[in-house]
Amino acid sequence: MHEAALAENIIKIALDTAEKNHAKKISEIGLKIGDMAGVEVEALNLSFEVLTSGTPAENSKLLIEKIPIRAKCNKCGKIFTLENFNFFCPECDGILILQSGRELLVDFVDCE
Ligand SMILES: [Zn+2]
Repeated sequence: MHEAALAENIIKIALDTAEKNHAKKISEIGLKIGDMAGVEVEALNLSFEVLTSGTPAENSKLLIEKIPIRAKCNKCGKIFTLENFNFFCPECDGILILQSGRELLVDFVDCE
């Protein structure tokens, strides 16, 4: 249950933020999730809903921004967005080095 652990961490960060800001209620939590992070958004939303019940984050919204997988060629230096997992440069056959797509970040916490 990767998503449940993830939801727990997100909620912890959100609650900490709310406490620091003396807020009573959390309205929105922004997340950035890389396409390669392997997160099931539906499962995450479900865990989030269950785990926030009875906390200041109850009924808050998860706003998820997906980060595409980007890779840079180690030969020609061009940057590509990977759509299929092809790790060779389409231009020069160099090896593509992953630049982004594994992120899993809490971007912002909106509280009232
Ligand atoms: Zn290249």
